[in-house]
Amino acid sequence: MRSKKIYVRDLAIGGDAPVSVQTMWKEALPQKMEELRELAARLSAMKSMGCDLVRFAVPDSQAAEALIRLREISPLPLVADIHYDYRLALTCIHGGVDKIRINPGNIGAEWKVRELILAARDREVPIRIGVNSGSLPKKLQAERDVASAMIKAAEQEIEVFERHGFSSLVCSLKASDINTTVAANEGFAARYPIPLHLGVTEAGPLIPGIVKSSVAMVRLLDRGIGNTIRVSLSDSPEKEILTGLEILDAAGMAKKRPKIVSCPRCGRAGFDTHGFVEKISPILYSMDKEVSVAVMGCVVNGPGEARHADLGITGAGREIIIFKHGKILRRVNENRAFEVFVEELKKL
Ligand code: SF4
Repeated sequence: MRSKKIYVRDLAIGGDAPVSVQTMWKEALPQKMEELRELAARLSAMKSMGCDLVRFAVPDSQAAEALIRLREISPLPLVADIHYDYRLALTCIHGGVDKIRINPGNIGAEWKVRELILAARDREVPIRIGVNSGSLPKKLQAERDVASAMIKAAEQEIEVFERHGFSSLVCSLKASDINTTVAANEGFAARYPIPLHLGVTEAGPLIPGIVKSSVAMVRLLDRGIGNTIRVSLSDSPEKEILTGLEILDAAGMAKKRPKIVSCPRCGRAGFDTHGFVEKISPILYSMDKEVSVAVMGCVVNGPGEARHADLGITGAGREIIIFKHGKILRRVNENRAFEVFVEELKKL
């Protein structure tokens, strides 16, 4: 069943819209305008990488005010993540924040949830409600089938929104294990045309987090389930974005963006490919171009194997070769390699 389409500022989620990639900011929101401008510049780089939406924790009124000020200069739509205090959500809605994420279960009395829903409905601000396997309502905690308990929890929350005529809803059903996440989202998608935000909660440090998120999300995306994704990692927002983009790539839904291939390196390597990849990645991913780059350690798999790349680099004895579509472009020594490579990259 195709989901409905909703809008978060100018970003479409659901329906025939491409699956979007989002992340969450990891720090407290700064208060000074100068720091907020720096943050907006970082959001701009994240947008160039392929990020569509960023969420911020709003634990108090200072954070709500800072998010409203950031919203005025942000190149990306922003989501306020709110727990417990419905008044923070009202402040964000009235201040123009693009989307709200709440867990209705911890907002308290239904009149508070209703007030929040009506304010969001009047201002056409979408809301995501999140169900996490670890914080199910008490009466569902004893259920043996956790995925079905998660769907029931979502149903109870949706019913409140529907009763108040609110339709700009996004749902997420997250567990920390793959099979429960997949089963909950499959069951939900079969019954509700509500756009789904996919994620595996508390997925863990970088490597287990990437593996768990990739397996769960590719399984769902392959079946046409999921409209926006967020990879949760104990790492930077940029790594979450890159992982999300790679997941879309693996699911055959690649966005047009720079791509990098690199060899794992072995004893034949003529230069430090790992260090080079680390250095070139931020520059490459901030380019708003669909270019492909190959970083190879030696000529064994150098220009020939990487001839599909728009630009490549490989160690070759005492020198470094820079090549374009498999043809040698320049030969340089190692200390000039980075500078020359960036120069050629910008010409593409
Ligand atoms: S390209 Fe060369 S350095 Fe890299 S893994 Fe292959 S043989 Fe080793």
